[in-house]
Amino acid sequence: MIPGAAEYGIDLQLADDDIEQLLSVSPADVPAAPELSFARNVFVPLTTACRYTCTYCTYYDPPGQAELMAPEEIRETCRRGATAGCTEALFTFGDDPDDRYTAVHEQLAAWGHDSIHTYLREACEIALEEGLLPHSNPGDQTREQMATVADVNASMGVMLETTADVQAHGGPRAKNPGQRLNTLDVAGQLDVPFTTGILVGIGEDWRARAESVLAIAAMHERHGHIQEVIVQPVVENDRWDGGTPDLATMRRVTALARAGLPEDVSVQVPPNLAPARELVDCGIDDLGGVSPVTVDHINPEYEWPALPELRAIAEHAGVALHERLPVYERFLDDDRWLSGRIETALDRDDGHGQRFRAVRDRGENPVPADD
Ligand code: SF4
Repeated sequence: MIPGAAEYGIDLQLADDDIEQLLSVSPADVPAAPELSFARNVFVPLTTACRYTCTYCTYYDPPGQAELMAPEEIRETCRRGATAGCTEALFTFGDDPDDRYTAVHEQLAAWGHDSIHTYLREACEIALEEGLLPHSNPGDQTREQMATVADVNASMGVMLETTADVQAHGGPRAKNPGQRLNTLDVAGQLDVPFTTGILVGIGEDWRARAESVLAIAAMHERHGHIQEVIVQPVVENDRWDGGTPDLATMRRVTALARAGLPEDVSVQVPPNLAPARELVDCGIDDLGGVSPVTVDHINPEYEWPALPELRAIAEHAGVALHERLPVYERFLDDDRWLSGRIETALDRDDGHGQRFRAVRDRGENPVPADD
């Protein structure tokens, strides 16, 4: 049983045979994807407050030190991103700041908000005004919290990371795999195209990796809403000296993800964290979001590759590279997945709409990438 699943009413039966079969997969068993995609984004770390203290994470700041981006700063960051040709505003959070973050809550109240989620809605509105499509990754969410922002996001996400109970999530306020799966389930119930992923090397074993992939696959079979699964290695940083998975591990786990997920779910590796060039034959078809204007605020020591590096990865693999929107093509032609707000943004009759349509139709983004 997945820890916390019963508590959140998540009924997932993963068959032992399926797990064993997945554990036997090697890179030679999966086909290489015929093309690779990427998105251009601007990273907007709305708050660094987080109720948890995962031992590999440098993103969160303790109470008293956590930051909350002001509306003007959000607008200025989004404007710079749109000017640089980005299509996505990637909003990140720590998980729901708890009562210890008095300064954050007082600031939110001063700006007219009683929760970080209503503030996220305001931030998404700003991104839409400035010509970007929001993709929010605000940690675990209840149905009510996600419903607050679902219609102003083109897609959303949360990393499942693992179905295992691991020390790296330890402490008095440990993250709960059942709660993460509940967030995935809520996204499906609300018809939100969703990104999730597994974090490799935080103390989970191979069986947990297979279980995690199969749990995501089961959620997708239930709702059809998972657009991509990120296979992300944990990396060394100021808080984590527990090592990073070696290439053989990354190759096997990437192939395992490809083999265990339905074909219509993309498999992504982040090219600033994983050896993407050595993983393209293991079934990946996406290189994630990269930003010409902001750093990876979750892994600030690991610089985004520029577009020529992504092209070099694709050339090395002998496949085409194309830019995509933060919501994948296969969700764009079905009203179920796009709110009226997002459809209006995609169809807007100005340079921003032109940029979205060019990327959507696989033409040239009218704003060239900064080579
Ligand atoms: S990984 Fe996410 S949930 Fe864990 S401490 Fe960092 S921001 Fe919080």
